[in-house]
Amino acid sequence: MTAPGPLEPRPGAPAHQAGHSNLDPHLDRYASRTAGMTASEIRALFAVASRPEVVSLAGGMPNLAALPLDSLSTQVAELVAEDGLVALQYGSAHGVPVLREQICEVMALEGISAHPDDIVVTVGSQMGLDMVTRLFCDPGDVVIAEGPSYVGALGSFAAYQAQVVHVAMDDDGLVPATLDEAIIRVKSEGRRVKFLYTIPNFHNPAGVTLAVRRRAEILEICARHGVLVVEDNPYGLLGFDGQTYPALRSTDPDNVVYLGSFSKTFASGLRVGWVLAPHAVREKLVLAAESATLCPPTFNQLVVSRYLATHDWKGQIKKFRENYRERRDAILGALEQHLPPGCSWTRPDGGFYVWVTVPEGIDTKAMLPRAVTARVAYASGTGFYADGLGSRQMRLSYCYPTPERIREGVRRLAGVLESEMDL
Ligand code: PMP
Repeated sequence: MTAPGPLEPRPGAPAHQAGHSNLDPHLDRYASRTAGMTASEIRALFAVASRPEVVSLAGGMPNLAALPLDSLSTQVAELVAEDGLVALQYGSAHGVPVLREQICEVMALEGISAHPDDIVVTVGSQMGLDMVTRLFCDPGDVVIAEGPSYVGALGSFAAYQAQVVHVAMDDDGLVPATLDEAIIRVKSEGRRVKFLYTIPNFHNPAGVTLAVRRRAEILEICARHGVLVVEDNPYGLLGFDGQTYPALRSTDPDNVVYLGSFSKTFASGLRVGWVLAPHAVREKLVLAAESATLCPPTFNQLVVSRYLATHDWKGQIKKFRENYRERRDAILGALEQHLPPGCSWTRPDGGFYVWVTVPEGIDTKAMLPRAVTARVAYASGTGFYADGLGSRQMRLSYCYPTPERIREGVRRLAGVLESEMDL
């Protein structure tokens, strides 16, 4: 285990230790909750990793090349011409009703039966994460999350001064027994567990999927301990064989808050996501959304709604899946061919990410500048933990580069690892 580096303050660390510059004249003015707000390691990396000579396996940008831009531009023009005065006007914080009905059809693909009134449209599911944390977490409250976990969620938890307790995963996703143990331990320490945050399908960053038989077990453990479940599912329709898994929300509607998004199945730049919540929670979410944004952008919601109504959106998702599968095959083949002995990695059957473990003695964060010099970038593992773990891990994203670039990137990475092992 490594100690947190300078970009990863411990919760509650004084502001000057937590990413605020000592030259900042406003230093004494910030609210104490800003102590947890720091640039994610991944964001810090984007500038170098986006230089054209670097093969970036770091960011998780969706590959939008397969989108039908010509027909989308016609659709957008028609939207302005036919419905412009509605599309360009304020709407309700709850979201456009017709889109909420369509979202129910999308969620039905993963076994969810929901009422459109229980959906709140958000500015990406990131806003859903922020709102759910705002609603439930006081400073010091505990959120249980898989280790590793989504960096944007960890950012929201830190921003509200929640403490994250990680639970273990294996190739079948979250290990139920470790969840039970963690809840019991945290409660025995007198701390309050507010929710389990979980990404059951094609996990970011781990690339694994929660086995179906574990789903009921996890719901049972949470229900038994009175712990809410926050299910984050942006990748669920990106299974490479078209396979889907029953959402946790489909079996326990009263104890699961579900987060969905069009970022990976349509267009991330439109920033349209949603939260499906039990009725009472949904009412609070609408109030929180109102105070955050007044309403999500009407225009973007209507673009998504038209797209769902007029395009073969399931066929489009299939195209995305095929692109990602080709890239997944490229990365797994290259890892097998090039990585030195002692490395291991997960084998995703959907989504964007492979999680790699390197031999003992190599620190992926310390190695990163040398990798960038060798013209390959990855996301080092520590950014995906709230407790400093992950120094022997890295996330490789295969979603964006071409298969040839992916193979070249892995070849370069293997060279860097080999020279680290010689040191
Ligand atoms: N959750 C997970 C697990 C993610 O990977 C992402 C994006 N990378 C998000 C939430 C946020 O997605 P968006 O705000 O674009 O819907």
